[in-house]
Amino acid sequence: MKKAKKLTSANLIERSNRVLMNTYGRLPVAFIRGQGARLWDPEGKEYLDFFSGLAVGNLGHCHPKIVSAVRAQSGLLFHTSNIFYTEPPVRLAELLVKHSFADKVFFCNSGAEANEGAVKLARIYARNCRKDERVGVVTMENSFHGRTLGMISATGQEKVKVGFAPLLEGFRTARFNDLAGVAKAAEGWAGAVMLEPIQGEGGVIPATPEFMTGVRKLCDRLGMLLIFDEVQVGIGRTGEMFAYQHYGVEPDILTLAKAVGGGLPLGAVLATNEAAAAFTPGTHATTFGGNAVVTAAGEAVINAIGFEKILSNCRRQGKTLRSALEKFAARYPGIREIRGRGLILGMELADGEKGQQLVRQALSAGLILNLTHGNVVRFLPPLNITSAEVSRGLKLLEKCLAEVYGNQK
Ligand SMILES: *Cc1c(COP(=O)(O)O)cnc(C)c1O
Repeated sequence: MKKAKKLTSANLIERSNRVLMNTYGRLPVAFIRGQGARLWDPEGKEYLDFFSGLAVGNLGHCHPKIVSAVRAQSGLLFHTSNIFYTEPPVRLAELLVKHSFADKVFFCNSGAEANEGAVKLARIYARNCRKDERVGVVTMENSFHGRTLGMISATGQEKVKVGFAPLLEGFRTARFNDLAGVAKAAEGWAGAVMLEPIQGEGGVIPATPEFMTGVRKLCDRLGMLLIFDEVQVGIGRTGEMFAYQHYGVEPDILTLAKAVGGGLPLGAVLATNEAAAAFTPGTHATTFGGNAVVTAAGEAVINAIGFEKILSNCRRQGKTLRSALEKFAARYPGIREIRGRGLILGMELADGEKGQQLVRQALSAGLILNLTHGNVVRFLPPLNITSAEVSRGLKLLEKCLAEVYGNQK
C-alpha cells in the first residue's frame, strides 16, 4: 500500500484555492490543531491566537467542557427537527433567559440568520400586535449585520452591497451615536431600531452611554422595538455576559451567534414575552436551528463562563492589554486611538497599509491578529487567556511595531 502523503501548508493552500470559492482573501496559513489560546500548523509551528476565530472561541480552542459536552450529546442524539421536543435547547434557553433581560429564545444557525429573525419579529410585531404599518428598521452607519440579502440591506456600509442590487426595502441608516439623527430617520416610519452596542466590523466603536439611554427612550416614546445585535460582543466578550449590561439599558430583542455555540454553528434571537408573542406557529422556522449537539455545546459555554471566573479574567486581561496598547500609542504617532471594552479592543492606525504589514509580521512571528475596517487592528483573544499569554503576545506585538514603524521614542 502506498503511504499517504503528509499534509503540508503549501499543499493544503493550493488544494483549497482549487475547490473553494474565492470569497475570503485568506492569509497564507493553515491550521490543524488548537488548544486554549494556541494553534498549530501542519509543520508544527505554534501560534498565539488573539483572534479566536473572529470572537467565536471565547473559551479558547477545544475547551475540555465543550469537547466533553459535544462528545456526550453526539453519542445520544444529534437532530430530530424542531417539530419535536429535546432537552439541550431548553437547557441553553433557560440559561440565556436567566442571564439576560429575555423571556424567550429562538435558535438558528448564524448571526445573519439571527438578525433576519429579529427583523421579521419586529415587523410582524408592528403589524399584528401594535397594529400599524410602521415597519421600517433604522440601522446605523458603519454597522455590520451579516451577508444575506436582507442583512446587507440593513448594514450601513456600502462595501458589502456593491454588485448585489436590488436590495431589500425597509431599512434606513442614521449616524451612530447621533440620537437626533435616529429620531429623524425613525419618525412616522420605523417599527424598530437595530444597533450594535460596540460596532465590531465597523472598527471597534462603542456606543456612548447617552446614545444608548436616548435610543431606549426614543423607542419607548415612538412605540418602536429596540434590537441589539450582540453577535460579536455577546457571551462575555466585553467583561459582562452581554454588552448592554454595561449601559443599564435593555433591548426588546437581542441577537447572538459567534461565541454562543463554542465553535459550532449556533445563533439565537432573544426577546421579551411581549415581543416574542408576535411569532406564532408557522411564522418562522429553520431546520437545523439549535439542534441537540450545538445547544449542548452552548450550554457548556455559558456554564463555563458562569463557573470559571471568566468574566473577571476578561476584565483584568482586557485592562492589561489596553494599557499596554495605550503605551504603544503614546510611542508611535502612527497609532491614532485605542478603543473597546474587555477583550474586544481596536487599535486605529493612521495608515491601513501599515496595519496589513503589522498583521503579516505578527503572523510570521507566531501571533494571530486581525485588521478590520481597513485600518483598525482588532484584538479578540479568548476570555480565559492567561497573564503569561498576554505578555507574550505584547512582546511579539512590540517587536512587530518596531519592524513596521521603526524604533520610535
Ligand atoms: C459576524 C457578525 C454578524 C454576522 O454573523 P454570521 O454568523 O457571519 O452570519 C452579524 N452581526 C455582527 C455584529 C457580527 O459581528
